Amino acid sequence: MSQMRLGKTELLVNKNGFGALPIQRATIDNSIRILQKAYENGINFFDTARFYTDSEEKIGQALSTVREKIFIATKTAAVNEESFWRDLEISLNNLKTDYIDLYQFHNPSFCPKPGDETGLYEAMCKAKEQGKIRHIGITNHRLAVAHEAIDSGLYETLQFPFCYLSTEKELELVEKCKEADMGFIAMKALSGGLITNASAAYAYLDQFENVLPIWGIQREHELDEFLEFSNNPPTLTEEIQQVIEHDREELLGEFCRGCGYCMPCPAGIEINNCARMSLLLRRSPSELQLTSEAQQKMKKIEDCIHCNQCKAKCPYGLDTPNLLKKNYVDYLEVLEDRSKVSV
Ligand code: SF4
Ligand code: SF4
Repeated sequence: MSQMRLGKTELLVNKNGFGALPIQRATIDNSIRILQKAYENGINFFDTARFYTDSEEKIGQALSTVREKIFIATKTAAVNEESFWRDLEISLNNLKTDYIDLYQFHNPSFCPKPGDETGLYEAMCKAKEQGKIRHIGITNHRLAVAHEAIDSGLYETLQFPFCYLSTEKELELVEKCKEADMGFIAMKALSGGLITNASAAYAYLDQFENVLPIWGIQREHELDEFLEFSNNPPTLTEEIQQVIEHDREELLGEFCRGCGYCMPCPAGIEINNCARMSLLLRRSPSELQLTSEAQQKMKKIEDCIHCNQCKAKCPYGLDTPNLLKKNYVDYLEVLEDRSKVSV
């Protein structure tokens, strides 16, 4: 398994990180088994967040006996000093540790800096002085905040969505992080489930020596797949390049990544799935998207009050209400075609 240096943090990490958001959906026993298996097979970087319900607790239960041999990254979405310290203490307690290797601001809408009156960056520095955290990072979905964080010189890592569907703008961030000696942590390497060829996703990211992908893992067979890749890394063969080109043509542009940052919706619409239904129908087993429960969720689009809150919050600048409408029209057509076939 290859290792990489995570920028100026000087952490030497396995080139494959463990993204611990999906284990929220796994049972405790399965989560513990998966996390321990990941560690036993060389994965040493685990990324979680205070926001990911019981993910931190599961890491604490699974890995506290090997604490010194792993690196833990977690995140706080605190908006003031008080919630910062509360989050940090809860995370330390959940993770059964007295220090966090990398503490990250979780997708803030601005770049926390000393003197900005939130007290957040000062709290990070104090926590570092106290030895409760070792390195300071930031995660984001907004290009402007990411650039500001790099330019500020205040952060050791940036976590940002990055995959083979990314554009020149994200590539520029990767390059800028390299110049600033910041670690670049790639989230959403499978673009929220829209990339279905994991070996192509792996081969693409493996080319960037300063990029640490964190693979979101919920099931053992998903872990096995990435372990196999790290032992026998897929390369950018002509065949894989064709897969990438095909997906780029099909997916680039106005598509919803399923991140959920536009939610909650006052009309109760499950935007992160409904706004990409046309893609889900065609890129995953369609039956899953056509159950009566799924149909009810799609029908909720009719309740949209056009408040545009979702549009304002979408970090990809999508016209979300319009996208929902288009997906709903397509969905109704698919349902109609299906009923004709079954008659
Ligand atoms: S515009 Fe519609 S979908 Fe978007 S937040 Fe408002 S009600 Fe929900
Ligand atoms: S509409 Fe935008 S914010 Fe909402 S889930 Fe999709 S990509 Fe994320």
